Amino acid sequence: MVKLADRFDSWAPITADDAALEKALASANIPALMCALVHLTGDAGIIRGAIKPRSEFMGDPQGGISEADQAAVRAQALDALKAYRDGAQSLPPAPGLAVLREMIDFIAGQPLPEHYGPFLMGELGLDQEDAYAQPALFAVEEGKRANFHVLIIGAGMSGLLAGYRLKQAGVPFTIVEKNASVGGTWFENTYPGCRVDSPNHTYSYSFAPNDWPQHFSAQPVLLDYFRQCAEAMGVLPNIRFNREVEAARFDTETQQWVLSVKSPEGAESFAGDALITATGQLNRPRMPEIEGMDRFQGPSWHSAKWNHDVDLTGKRVAVVGTGASAFQFVPHVAKQAAKVTIFQRTPPWVSPQAHYFEPIEDGKHWLLQHVPFYAKWFRFSQFWSTSEGLLGSVRREPGFENRDDAVGQANDELRAMLTEFIHEMLGDRPDLVEKVTPHYPPAGKRMLVDNGTWYQTLKLPQVEVLTDRIARFTPTGLQTESGAAHDFDVVIYATGFHASKIVWPMAIYGRTGENLQDLWDGDPRAYLGITVPDFPNFFMTYGPNTNIVVNGSIVFFSECEMRYILGCLALSMERQQSLAVKHTVHDRFNEAVDEANSQMAWGAPHVRSWYKNAKGRVTQNWPFTLLEYWNRTRAPAPEDFDFFSPEGPAQKRA
Ligand code: NAP
Repeated sequence: MVKLADRFDSWAPITADDAALEKALASANIPALMCALVHLTGDAGIIRGAIKPRSEFMGDPQGGISEADQAAVRAQALDALKAYRDGAQSLPPAPGLAVLREMIDFIAGQPLPEHYGPFLMGELGLDQEDAYAQPALFAVEEGKRANFHVLIIGAGMSGLLAGYRLKQAGVPFTIVEKNASVGGTWFENTYPGCRVDSPNHTYSYSFAPNDWPQHFSAQPVLLDYFRQCAEAMGVLPNIRFNREVEAARFDTETQQWVLSVKSPEGAESFAGDALITATGQLNRPRMPEIEGMDRFQGPSWHSAKWNHDVDLTGKRVAVVGTGASAFQFVPHVAKQAAKVTIFQRTPPWVSPQAHYFEPIEDGKHWLLQHVPFYAKWFRFSQFWSTSEGLLGSVRREPGFENRDDAVGQANDELRAMLTEFIHEMLGDRPDLVEKVTPHYPPAGKRMLVDNGTWYQTLKLPQVEVLTDRIARFTPTGLQTESGAAHDFDVVIYATGFHASKIVWPMAIYGRTGENLQDLWDGDPRAYLGITVPDFPNFFMTYGPNTNIVVNGSIVFFSECEMRYILGCLALSMERQQSLAVKHTVHDRFNEAVDEANSQMAWGAPHVRSWYKNAKGRVTQNWPFTLLEYWNRTRAPAPEDFDFFSPEGPAQKRA
């Protein structure tokens, strides 16, 4: 069972015999183990010797440490664990801040600039501080907190987090959820093979560590995690399930938000002092617009609305699209279907990850559960290796030649490495190499994570990749632009989501009465992805330009966003006014975001993806470092906001 806020002494006593210790150590992540040894022995010399991970080996969990050196560290750890087990199982005095800082640099494989200190110490969570809580909210008088009601839309990862943080602070709230359960994307996407593609130890709340069964767990595990969290958080009684918000209106007289909700009984309405949307960027399935789609007589569905009633055994299946969803379900469908024809418009870049489907070995579980501070440093090493490290390799380098398939030297090296993986997997099928090698820069679109299963699937005799465009559907299948006709029993659309239509299809009316969707006109913008001018006390999680491509986990972003939102709520409670970001602050921020995105691989003019809207602007992605977002969302600056008081005689809700 997931436990919350178990931030510190959460390891179990060690009773294992020497052989079991040795066996467990065989699975150790050596850099994390070395840091744990500093805690265990009090000897910082362990990280000051010649054995250390190096940043250039970031793809290697052992950071390039040689087998012989790994064996030496394991032997040292065995002695230390035996001494700990046979002694009082108590630890020497904790390493001081300077040593911890050294340990952070050690894990990163390079000395990090000083300003990374507070951010990484917070993420590490060793100082007993809840780095993503908002102290300003706790400083607000209890009565003011209790007299403020927050509405949250969505009970997925971000909505649950919002509820949890408000509950911690004694702020009443209601979560309105369209589904019958919590979990959001992990509740809705049930296609075969669905799994997380960020390392699970970082794709989890900072305050709810979990002993994951796999490095990248499958959808049922993720759904179970969020269900367990919802229960442990105690937010379930606050959730109104099976209710879909159609509109939200800000009442300038009362300074309240009023939701119009479609419920099983008909219509309902909810009122509150602030509104937080937690509806995700990838929630509304997008069907393509292809002639005659409704003429096809067989079953068809979108990957996010999987039809589990249709048995695909022996069927001829067409798959439209080759993004992250198709990538995960096609290998499963290919095991059942007589024939799978994949209609590929643009091939994805695939980032090799040998552990992608592997369970976490028993030894690793043991270390995570028993060795003091090992889990902390393991999570931290995962966090760092997927954080700022890759950003430089997806950014345009000044002076780099103008090419379609790379934006800089580092990006070109990444392209060469990924291309080599394609050749390694498909060397015997030059026809497939030709088809699946992308001609845009790596990270231009979402890179997919895999151990090679996708490429192996494409080689199966029952699987075919067609790059000929679909011209029209027919009652029995489809015709491509070359005129060829193909018959199918089933069509599966893996064509993605209406990502740029943030908070769509809800109509959200701010203080001027304008609908946010009209204001944006398909081009959503916000300050820090959170707040919009003239929409007082309206806050988004996973809003415009808060998606990350190669750095970090989206849970990290949600935690940062919530910390900032809670700071805004504190300001609102203290001042008894509503607030929305100033136009000038918002516009300046968006100019900087647009400029930075234009320098990234995903901003390259010829690349089309869900990161861009129909106008070609990158509306989804955060182009800066995680540190930048962490710093900017620590607390709101009051001078960035316009404040609004009730207009007219109406009283605030008692
Ligand atoms: P997607 O990445 O947007 O992929 C949609 C696919 O459909 C693309 O290959 C696209 O081709 C193709 N397509 C769209 N319209 C088409 C048309 N008219 N004809 C032919 N092909 C068409 O969607 P997704 O795979 O559902 O993934 C969306 C995002 O969800 C991912 O990027 C990821 O962030 C998230 N996701 C994550 C996971 C995970 O963590 N494991 C799993 C699934 C999804 P073009 O490339 O040419 O546009």
